[in-house]
This record gives sequence, C-alpha cells and structure tokens, in this order.
Amino acid sequence: MAVKVSRVCNFNPGPAALPLEALERARNELTDFAGTGMSLMEMSHRSKEYEAVQREAAALLRELMGIPDGYKVLFLQGGASTQFAMVPMNLLAEGKSGAYVVTGSWAKKAFAEAKLFGRAVAAASSEADGWTRIPPLESVTIPEDAAYLHITSNETIEGTQWRVFPDTKAVPLVADMSSDILSRPVDVSRFGLIYAGAQKNIGPAGVTVVIIREDLIREPAFPVPTMLRYDTHAKHDSLYNTPPAFAIYMTKLVLEWIRDNGGAAGMEARAREKAEALYRVIDASGGFYRGCAQKDSRSLMNVTFRLASEELEKRFLEEAAKNGFVGLKGHRSVGGLRASIYNGVPTEHAKALAAFMEDFMRRNG
Ligand SMILES: *Cc1c(COP(=O)(O)O)cnc(C)c1O
Repeated sequence: MAVKVSRVCNFNPGPAALPLEALERARNELTDFAGTGMSLMEMSHRSKEYEAVQREAAALLRELMGIPDGYKVLFLQGGASTQFAMVPMNLLAEGKSGAYVVTGSWAKKAFAEAKLFGRAVAAASSEADGWTRIPPLESVTIPEDAAYLHITSNETIEGTQWRVFPDTKAVPLVADMSSDILSRPVDVSRFGLIYAGAQKNIGPAGVTVVIIREDLIREPAFPVPTMLRYDTHAKHDSLYNTPPAFAIYMTKLVLEWIRDNGGAAGMEARAREKAEALYRVIDASGGFYRGCAQKDSRSLMNVTFRLASEELEKRFLEEAAKNGFVGLKGHRSVGGLRASIYNGVPTEHAKALAAFMEDFMRRNG
C-alpha cells in the first residue's frame, strides 16, 4: 500500500518522534496481527502470539543494552513518575536512607517522592549552579546508611546529561534513564536498577521499563501494595495483570529498528551528529543563541537554548512551525527553547533545524 507521508520535523520532548519504519510496520499489522484475524489490541495477553511479542521485546532490550544475567527486565505502567515512588517503597528499610543527586526538575521530583516514604538525603546538588550542570563526581557524598544512590542520567528539561557515572561501590546505583535510554552504550552491571518511561527514546507512552538486579527483588521492608512491588512483577514475568500490550509491541518495533541501525553504538553516533550540528550553530552565533547548559554537561538528547528576548523566541517558534519544525518550545517551568533529538529523530531533521537557525539569525541578528 503506497501512502503519501507528509511528516514534520518533530522535536517534541516526549512523547516524541518514532522511527517511520516502526510506525509503518504497526500500520500494516494493525487489523490482522500475525494471521490471527484480529489486532494485537484485541487479543488476550495470555495468548501465545502476545506472549511471544513481550518475550521478544525483553530479549531485544537485553541484547541491545547488554544486560547481564542476574538482572530482570520488567514492563510496568504508571510512567517513570511511579518509579519515583516504587524505588523508595521497595529499596528503603528502617535505618536506611535514599541518597539523591539533585540535578534538575526530574531529580527533584524523585527526591521529593522518597521523602514521602522514608529518609532521603541529597548526595550532591547543582542548585547553586542554577541546574546548568551535572555536579562533579568528587562532590557526590554517599551517606553511610544509603540503601541506594539515585541519579537522573539526563535532565530533559534543563538539558544536562551525565557523562561518567559515579562509582558507588557496594551501594546500588539507581538511574532514571527516561530521556536517554539506549541512546548510548551503558555498562548495566554498574547499576542496581535502571528505569525509563518508553516514550522518549524507545517507544510510545504507556510502558515503563525497569531493569533490576535480582538481589534487589525482595519483600519490601514496609507494607507495599501488590502492584507497586517489584517482586510481584518479577515473579509473574510482567504478566501479573494486563500489561500495556500495544505499547510493549510498539516498543518491540522500535527496538528492532534500533538493532537494524547499529544498536546503542549506532544511536550514540547519530546522537552526536545531531547534537553537534545544533551546538555548533549556538556556539558560533556570538551570543545570538545562548546555550542553557554548561558545555561539560550538555545533553545529547535535549538541546536547550535562549534568544535575547521572549519576543524573539516567540518569533523563532512561529517561523520554525511555518517551516515544518515543531516541538521546540522549552518546558513551561523554564521557558526558552529546546530541541529534543531522541533516537527516533532523523539526523537530516536536526541538520535542517541547524540550517534554519543560521538563517533565522541572519535575518534577525
Ligand atoms: C519524562 C520524564 C519523566 C516522567 O515520565 P512519565 O512517564 O511521564 O512519568 C521522568 N524522568 C525523566 C528524566 C523524564 O524525562
């Protein structure tokens, strides 16, 4: 079926651009999945067809991230925001604290949620730097009684990203990788737990991936509702209740596309090319564009920048939209502009945006 596609250059921060190939495959399979005569959305999550989809999605994630034995992959609901609560609910205990590196908007939310549940301490913070950077590794102090150290590998709103992860020794390292999962190779064995909402880099909204080391899957120290316990979902291979089947299926299609495009290393090469195209324009603009993040902490996923006035920013957004570039408004809490260039954003789209930025500067500088 030949369908004319007219797609914008989509820089949405999440949900975000998905690879066209994955969308087309889903369209082709939408009404008759694998010869069953029904959509995947219409079948039992206990059917062999669906179970194969979920199994393959987990196997692909294991392959692409190099997840070692001794870790479980879970597909959960409630978004990364629910993980802000599930992590302390399941990992904290009497006399233990959750340690947080507070780097920006998302880390603050995770930290606040842990405080609702037990003792949480800031192991480091970039507040004094206006959230423009990841704190230096030497400044991260892990308290004696830490049950874990929590980091946000990429701060989606401020546009900062960890380059080198802290060495936490015996303390499990927990990471919110919602906005940079599978955008670069990561040594999973250094982490106790990784979680990510799928809707930025690996799929649609509705499914949250949790990668958890098996020794951390245990009966919580406090009463925790069944659905919010990692051991519930681990015991039932993420089929304790009805999973978000279609979202997991879409994630599988995106993971296949990532595999076919060079895996994590391929995604990193693409991310670098896209980010460099944009940062190069910002840095060469003589202050016309002002990057929000300090250079050593710049995100390869969310390029945040400002113009001299809000009025000029408004004009930028209007002209960008007219030229087919959408999703460039900064988060409402910080303002400014932001280009989110996750895995699904084609390199040519980022390069076209860079050219537009140069042109806009020529006309307005
Ligand atoms: C988007 C995002 C979240 C929130 O994810 P939800 O799935 O909407 O709960 C949390 N952390 C980071 C780093 C994010 O980018």
